[in-house]
Amino acid sequence: MLNSKNKDTAALLAAAKKSVLFTANRPEVVMERGDGMYLWDTEGKKYLDFSSGWAVTSLGHSPKVLQEAIAKQAGQLVHASPAFFNKPMVEFAELLTSVSGFDKAYFTSSGAEANETAIKLARKHGALNLNGAYEIITLTNSFHGRTLAMMSATGKAHWESLYAPKVPGFKHVPINDFDACFAAISDRTCAIMLELVQGEGGVHSVDAPYLQALRKACDVYGILLIFDEVQTGIGRTGKLFAHEHYGIKPDVMTLAKGIGGGFPLSATLTMKQYDIFEPGDQGGTYTGGPLAMAAGQAVVEEIIRLDLSTNAKLMGDLMSEKLVELSHEYAITDIRGKGLLLAFTVAEGIAPQLAACCMEDGLIINALNASTVRITPALTVTEAETDDMFKLLERGMSKLGLKMAQKETANA
Ligand code: PLP
Repeated sequence: MLNSKNKDTAALLAAAKKSVLFTANRPEVVMERGDGMYLWDTEGKKYLDFSSGWAVTSLGHSPKVLQEAIAKQAGQLVHASPAFFNKPMVEFAELLTSVSGFDKAYFTSSGAEANETAIKLARKHGALNLNGAYEIITLTNSFHGRTLAMMSATGKAHWESLYAPKVPGFKHVPINDFDACFAAISDRTCAIMLELVQGEGGVHSVDAPYLQALRKACDVYGILLIFDEVQTGIGRTGKLFAHEHYGIKPDVMTLAKGIGGGFPLSATLTMKQYDIFEPGDQGGTYTGGPLAMAAGQAVVEEIIRLDLSTNAKLMGDLMSEKLVELSHEYAITDIRGKGLLLAFTVAEGIAPQLAACCMEDGLIINALNASTVRITPALTVTEAETDDMFKLLERGMSKLGLKMAQKETANA
């Protein structure tokens, strides 16, 4: 395979094999440039990106506002110290709290760190107000990140024994099963943490009555309700925050991915009664760093200015309709999701093949697992780009022989 590449790409791939620690099977391409909905590799091949780097580049690739904000801030102050406030930190905290209705914001660089902050806050609350309660209830099939504690919080069956021993204090219960959650609550419980749409777990949404019951139970027992909106937050689901679909507010919300538009950034938001950390309880060298704060501020302001939540709703509805149409002709089922966090099911083993086939033709979609394809384009996606995507997707499905026989189609 390497020989078919031009010298630069072949050399880069050889160097990658030699020098980059293996953690994932990656295709033999090297990405070089991005603009809007498109990526280009070192061979000059163009890709229409309907994954947006796993739901990250919310304004598309290398948007002007982000470039300008980073360049301007870099010329002024890249890093002061976590020991000091800085202007972008204060302004970004004000912006996020005002658009979310939370009182306080804390900043980190990744979703896992934002969730770690939420868990520390919950355990602090347990220590101060719940007689030392420390347990956190999370959901099976959930995903909360890859630090050791977040791997324990995550409900992936095949992570059960990975990097044992696990961080203790996490209990997993099935999604949308309030009785199971209620049975798991004890005087050791300090929080319930969940995603409103399980992103990595297959794009499964929680039900409104279930969420209402969780909110009530948390209120009755004084337990914190934590929403991990790392993937669903900042416009992705068609509202600025996914909890707005349900009219239920958590005590703590975490954000990452789309909030930095590609700049590593995450936030943990809470109400003033949970402003309970003492000096030294939580911190980090890069917390609230000016460059990240300026990037986040520019991205969030632009998402609000362009009302991209509404675009996510409109384009998401359009894509869902088109997927339903496709399902009349092709063997795809279970079209699901909210806004621009969408997925569909194919036969076991087909999802990675379909993603690879589309990539050959210049379309990036994401195989979440052997049978699930996830679609998460930038929130700026247009109808014309959606049409282009569906042409390529249908071509991929045809190539893989997913077209159903006439009789099956008629019966579908
Ligand atoms: N929480 C959710 C819901 C996620 O989808 C992810 C990443 O996919 C994370 C947490 C972890 O975020 P990060 O990879 O930035 O640590």
